[in-house]
Amino acid sequence: MYFKLSEEQELIRSNVHEFALKHIEPIAAEIDANSRYPAEIFEKLGELGMMGISYPAEYGGGGTEFLTTMIVTEELSRFCASTGFLHGYSFGLVGHPILTFGNEEQKKKWMPGLATGKFVGAFALTEPGAGTDVRAATSSAVKNGDSYILNGTKTFITNASLADVFVAFAYTDRSAGVKGMSCFLIPKGSPGLIVGEHFDKMGVRGSYTSEVVFKDCIVPADCLLGKEGDGFKIAMSALDVGRIGIAAMSTGIAQACLDESVRYSKERVQFNKPIASQQAIQWFIANMSTDVDAARFMYMYAAWLKDQGKPFSLAASKAKLFCSECAARHTTKAVQIQGGYGFMKGAKVERLYRDVKLAEIGEGTSEAQRMIIAGAALR
Ligand SMILES: Cc1cc2nc3c(=O)[nH]c(=O)nc-3n(C[C@H](O)[C@H](O)[C@H](O)COP(=O)(O)OP(=O)(O)OC[C@H]3O[C@@H](n4cnc5c(N)ncnc54)[C@H](O)[C@@H]3O)c2cc1C
Repeated sequence: MYFKLSEEQELIRSNVHEFALKHIEPIAAEIDANSRYPAEIFEKLGELGMMGISYPAEYGGGGTEFLTTMIVTEELSRFCASTGFLHGYSFGLVGHPILTFGNEEQKKKWMPGLATGKFVGAFALTEPGAGTDVRAATSSAVKNGDSYILNGTKTFITNASLADVFVAFAYTDRSAGVKGMSCFLIPKGSPGLIVGEHFDKMGVRGSYTSEVVFKDCIVPADCLLGKEGDGFKIAMSALDVGRIGIAAMSTGIAQACLDESVRYSKERVQFNKPIASQQAIQWFIANMSTDVDAARFMYMYAAWLKDQGKPFSLAASKAKLFCSECAARHTTKAVQIQGGYGFMKGAKVERLYRDVKLAEIGEGTSEAQRMIIAGAALR
């Protein structure tokens, strides 16, 4: 075993840290308050190569390990959970399926734009009647000569209003069960592709989330990703990678709780001494610090397995479950440490407390992860 990041990874972490401190920290509260997508940040991250750092160089990426991407996601989330979430999402749910299942033409068309942050992607799987139960989807795609015609409604789709490309799922053969689900790369502006208003959300408000309707939406047949019937496999593969992203995002949030709790408890004086001198507060901080280390090991292990070409699906579920729940626990404690001040709008910990909830829901709820983990343990 070798518990050490490479020099390159340490350097990237420290560069992203400096970048986030300078460019993201000052606007993170405003992004949240105005529910604003930070386009200028993604433009800069694209210029710095951070949007495609682990994509192959031939598609405009940096050619590093996937773990490096996750380190970037963690560090961004420490300052702004919305930015970190969208960073991990772009890799796991958009870039990964195109790279893994796309043909050369599809990779050349979409990957360089994604790698440089010039293109935004969306992953459209969830439907009003099909959340955890993905198989219950009703969207359909019917082949018609050189095209497919899609009909159906997707909901809670991140980036829908910004997306240049949708990685979207629909049944081409309902009678075949999940083996009849297919995946399409749908370009923005396709006829019959309708994106709804942004939902108003509790947290991660710098990301846009909308309904997407396919109303006799026509796409060329070469938009099919993989083969007909590969859709469910592609969706699960993307979610496996996306879950490591949520775990890294959660670790960044937990680290931010620790940062804030250490800072505040040293500054806040009650009973003529900083509250950091009280054992009750020290125990909160000790638990936080321990869990941040554990969370980091969990997501890094899952990412490392992926980089080694080993099975990582179970490790991704465990990391997602552990990191999101531990971050949620510590946002509660971080608000507690700041008392009434932590409860006020504008307190960073108040934002973290709301942001973290998505991590227990998106890309498979905690209950869905427990189903996967228990299924493996009891096999
Ligand atoms: C901000 C945000 C962004 C999102 N972005 C995207 C996106 O870009 N693309 C996309 O496709 N989806 C997206 N989603 C959807 C997300 O993946 C779903 O919300 C999630 O999978 C849960 O589905 P659901 O909301 O329908 O809840 P449901 O599936 O209805 O679950 C409700 C509750 O029941 C529990 N439950 C369900 N089934 C079981 C069971 N068998 N055993 C035990 N408990 C169970 C769940 O864990 C949950 O607690 C997003 C969601 C949010 C909130």
